[in-house]
Amino acid sequence: MIREPLIFEISEPGKRAYALPALDVPGPADALAGLPVRADIPGFPQVSEVEIVRHFTRLSQQNYCVDLGIYPLGSCTMKYNPKINEKVAALPGFTASHPLAPADTVQGDLEVLRLVEDALCEITGMDACTLQPAAGAQGELTGMMLIRACLEERGDPRKYVLVPDSAHGTNPSSAHLCGYIVKEIKSNEGGTIDLDDLARQMTGQVAALMVTNPNTLGVFEYDIVKIAEIVHAKGGFLYMDGANMNALTGKCRPGDMGADALHINLHKTFSTPHGGGGPGSGPVAVKRVLEPYLPVPRVIGKAGALALDYARTRSIGRVKSFYGNFGVILKALAYIWSLGPDGLKEIAEIAVLNANYIRRSLDKDFYLKYTTPTLHECVFSDKFQKEYGVSNLDIAKRLIDYGVHPPTMSFPLIVHGALMIEPTETESKRDLDQFIEIMTTIAREAKTDPELLRAAPHATVVRRLDETGAARHPILKWENGKT
Ligand SMILES: *Cc1c(COP(=O)(O)O)cnc(C)c1O
Repeated sequence: MIREPLIFEISEPGKRAYALPALDVPGPADALAGLPVRADIPGFPQVSEVEIVRHFTRLSQQNYCVDLGIYPLGSCTMKYNPKINEKVAALPGFTASHPLAPADTVQGDLEVLRLVEDALCEITGMDACTLQPAAGAQGELTGMMLIRACLEERGDPRKYVLVPDSAHGTNPSSAHLCGYIVKEIKSNEGGTIDLDDLARQMTGQVAALMVTNPNTLGVFEYDIVKIAEIVHAKGGFLYMDGANMNALTGKCRPGDMGADALHINLHKTFSTPHGGGGPGSGPVAVKRVLEPYLPVPRVIGKAGALALDYARTRSIGRVKSFYGNFGVILKALAYIWSLGPDGLKEIAEIAVLNANYIRRSLDKDFYLKYTTPTLHECVFSDKFQKEYGVSNLDIAKRLIDYGVHPPTMSFPLIVHGALMIEPTETESKRDLDQFIEIMTTIAREAKTDPELLRAAPHATVVRRLDETGAARHPILKWENGKT
């Protein structure tokens, strides 16, 4: 493959993407005459139309996406996103409506918000929901702000938030950003929360425990009801990270397990394409006790006479412009309705089946630190391959040679050299078998030809990148052909 140059490198002075006859009527230049408008943009690439089209088409064909094959990034739920969601979100009635339009002219939009709130409450077993947060991490922050507002109103602000050592990095960050001191809870040999450690650390100064269930090892916290009791007994809140709802939809509900607040990643579980930087959506669902603090505006009233309520004195205020990422919310509604209750249940069943099929098929070739049964994902490590000097990075790079996107690496932190695989429910047995065959081939190569793996990838335009160099000496500017 030939390396595609930067668009700046193919630029040649004087080239234009189009050629049209000169205007014989006044044009934009005349309208702007005399105003401080610059004549050109320094360093702006000058290329022809066909050069632009080919440049970006070639780049697009070097890309990998869920429409091309399995994308087994653990904790990311890279499922295939049905195209009907896009069709619905592109309906002109939705795309042409304006967020500042008077409520009585956008009853349909408000009803979409209401329907998604209701559906998420039903799926999670919670009482109320805000759709405003733009991502999971912002949902976490919003949830922690709700808890803080409630505790402050009680005159009991508290200092600490407990987070298990298996948690996603966003959990401690969100708690910290909300002004809490984060304390870590240890996992036991089974990979779940150590109840003794929790009981020891859960004092009257702890605002909340943030727990992911199933956790980032894919292990269900079997003691979740007991965990909730320990937290509630000391007047704390149970915050649940619902990014892993894919393992639970239609089967069980966080609200029934004792969660007081949780966020859901619509761009994971409820099928909006993600990975390229958004937009996402991280709604937060809460129990009645936290409802008064939800962000404004709230959709109120009955279908046909819905309104937006801003006059909520106990609300934490806005967390996002307007009403959240409406297009993503709409896609979630299309997805939920097209599947129905039985389909939602099937998501969890097949996601868990697929992950366990991979786990059982690869557990001879790759080391499993935790042998506790897992749900929708499984976490191997490079321990067997380390004997031959091959690391999880080498395995990930070799997967690229075989045309497969690598799994999540080196996370969760409690598994050294982790390879975290989440196939999701949308992979067929044929695709899973192909992935398994590639992984076993790589395990064989690690023994017979470790050098090959250490130098991978071999089949790509760009070979192994110097990631440390890129971080230490980033090149952020391109000027007149020079870096
Ligand atoms: C993805 C994820 C998050 C963060 O969600 P973003 O939308 O990326 O901010 C938080 N927790 C867990 C367990 C996740 O998998």
